[in-house]
Amino acid sequence: IFQLSLPLNFLGTIYREMRQNLLDMEVLLRLVEDNAPKKDVQGAKPLQLTGGSIRFENVAFGYHPERPIFRDLSFTVPAGKKVAIVGPSGCGKSTVFRLLYRFYDASSGRIFIDDQDITQIQLESLRRSVGVVPQDTPLFHSDILHNIRYGRLSATDDEVIEAAKKANVHESIIRLPEGYKTQVGERGLMISGGEKQRLAVARVMLKDPEILFFDEATSALDAHTESELMKNINTSLLDKARTSIFIAHRLRTVVEADLIIVLKEGSVVEQGNHEELMRTRGLYHSMWQQQAVSEGLEEDQPES
Ligand code: ATP
Repeated sequence: IFQLSLPLNFLGTIYREMRQNLLDMEVLLRLVEDNAPKKDVQGAKPLQLTGGSIRFENVAFGYHPERPIFRDLSFTVPAGKKVAIVGPSGCGKSTVFRLLYRFYDASSGRIFIDDQDITQIQLESLRRSVGVVPQDTPLFHSDILHNIRYGRLSATDDEVIEAAKKANVHESIIRLPEGYKTQVGERGLMISGGEKQRLAVARVMLKDPEILFFDEATSALDAHTESELMKNINTSLLDKARTSIFIAHRLRTVVEADLIIVLKEGSVVEQGNHEELMRTRGLYHSMWQQQAVSEGLEEDQPES
């Protein structure tokens, strides 16, 4: 029995080690997304980034064939620009990211990054170049240090702490009972939605991708913390020309975007910058007016 149990224990240790090291943020998201893993097509090439422009060309997609989300979606995100996607709840804003990241593939039409069809690119290289701060950040049952490190497994403790500082979450972490060693996740300490989102920002800072996606990244934060975080995101992540896409409910966060894409019923109904869209007096304008009433935004609204 002794002879048998020793190697078995050993195998168990290796298995745990492997699990610890192989799991990264994408694997986790993939589990959460509950979608069949994809294989590279024959002859798939690594993504050659030349600035990070994104183009959706006549994309059709539905989670279920009888209920299409997009019928004919086309838009372009220019390289290095800050673009916001807005639109009524359920219009498919998060789905744009799921298609770009290839959790799902379009049923027709094509998606390009720097003029390369993403279905022809090695998935690993695609996902390495795209980072996301999701709406609901999944946490592993592990300590905070490990949870941030999933952004880049080779990061040192100092790099993790540096990222946490930039993401404005370091101060909250050191106040926890065991600081960076505090267990979080399923059976661990509950942390607030805002703290989780800032952990996700720290993760993405470690990953340092060329293309960034913020899926209502600041929705769980109060207005003050949100504006602090946006400032940090601007200085630490958007310091270099990086293509970034913001999905925002609070229109306040999209005012400064280079381009705002307005989605409705599966296609683009308006696009332009804030001033242009306010002048058009279309859907964006009426969304602003609605929010202004419910959140008292009038004073914040720039002249249009
Ligand atoms: P919100 O602003 O409320 O976050 P959204 O515009 O981001 O919404 P999506 O999350 O992209 O919308 O969802 C678009 C539609 O697809 C919704 O009607 C949603 O219920 C549906 N949907 C989303 N995910 C799935 C899924 N995994 N399976 C089936 N339907 C889904």
